[in-house]
Amino acid sequence: MNTRQWNLAALLLWLLSCVSTPPQKRAYAYHETKHFTIYYYEDEFSLQEVRRIGEKKERFLAFINNELALDYDGVVSAYLYLTGDEYAYANTEEETYESRSYVMTDPGHEIVHIVTFEELGYSQSAFLKEGIAVSYELDFENYNAIENYVRYRRHIDSTDAAHGEWYDTQQTISRQLGEDDFDYSYFSYQRAGAFVKYLTITYGIDKVNTFYSSSIDNPRSLRRVDFKKIFGASIEEVEKQFITTCFPP
Ligand SMILES: [Zn+2]
Repeated sequence: MNTRQWNLAALLLWLLSCVSTPPQKRAYAYHETKHFTIYYYEDEFSLQEVRRIGEKKERFLAFINNELALDYDGVVSAYLYLTGDEYAYANTEEETYESRSYVMTDPGHEIVHIVTFEELGYSQSAFLKEGIAVSYELDFENYNAIENYVRYRRHIDSTDAAHGEWYDTQQTISRQLGEDDFDYSYFSYQRAGAFVKYLTITYGIDKVNTFYSSSIDNPRSLRRVDFKKIFGASIEEVEKQFITTCFPP
C-alpha cells in the first residue's frame, strides 16, 4: 500500500474502534426499602448515606400518610444526583429527582406530592399542590407551617413592607387559588403552606382532601363554588379569618 492507502486504512481502523467501543454509560447503584428504590452513583453517595436517606424517607412516609389520613403503599423510584443547587421534583409516575443538597436536608416535600398525586390525583391548582406539600413537610418534630409563615412575614414587613403589601392586595390567596395565578415565589409557597394548615386545623383534613380532589380536572370557575360548598364560607371570608388568626389585631 502507498502512503495514501496506509492513511485510509488507519482512518478506517480508527473509525471502527469508535463504533465498537461506545462510551460506557454510568450504571446506577440502587438501595431498596419497603416504599423506596433509591438510585444513586457510588462515587457520589456512600451506601451508608443512602441507607440513612432510605430510613428517613420511610419515617416521613409513615408520618405523611398518618397526617393526611391516606394510605399510600406503593414504591417510589428516587433518583439522587449531584449538583450545587437545592432542587427536587416529583412526577405522577411515582418518581422523584433529588439533588444532594435537597436530600441531605429532606423536609419530605416531594413525598407529600407523591402521596397526594397517587391517592387523590393530580390537582390543577398549583396553590393547593404546593400548599399541601409545604404544610406537611417537616424538618423537625415541631415544625409548624403557620408559625413559620408568621415569622417570615414579620421579617418581610420589617425589611420590605411593600413586598408583603403587594401580596395582600394584588396576589391575594383567593386570586392565586381561584385563577391559577400561583407565582411559585418563596412568599407564595410559605403562605400557601400556612393557609392549607389553617384549613386543616379549622375544618379537618377530610374537607381539605375533598377540596383537593375537586380541583382535579376541574374548570377554574368551579373551584370557588366548591370551596363554599365544602367549607361553608367563601374563599375571601376564610382568607380574612386566616389573616386575623396569623396576625391578631
Ligand atoms: Zn412542590
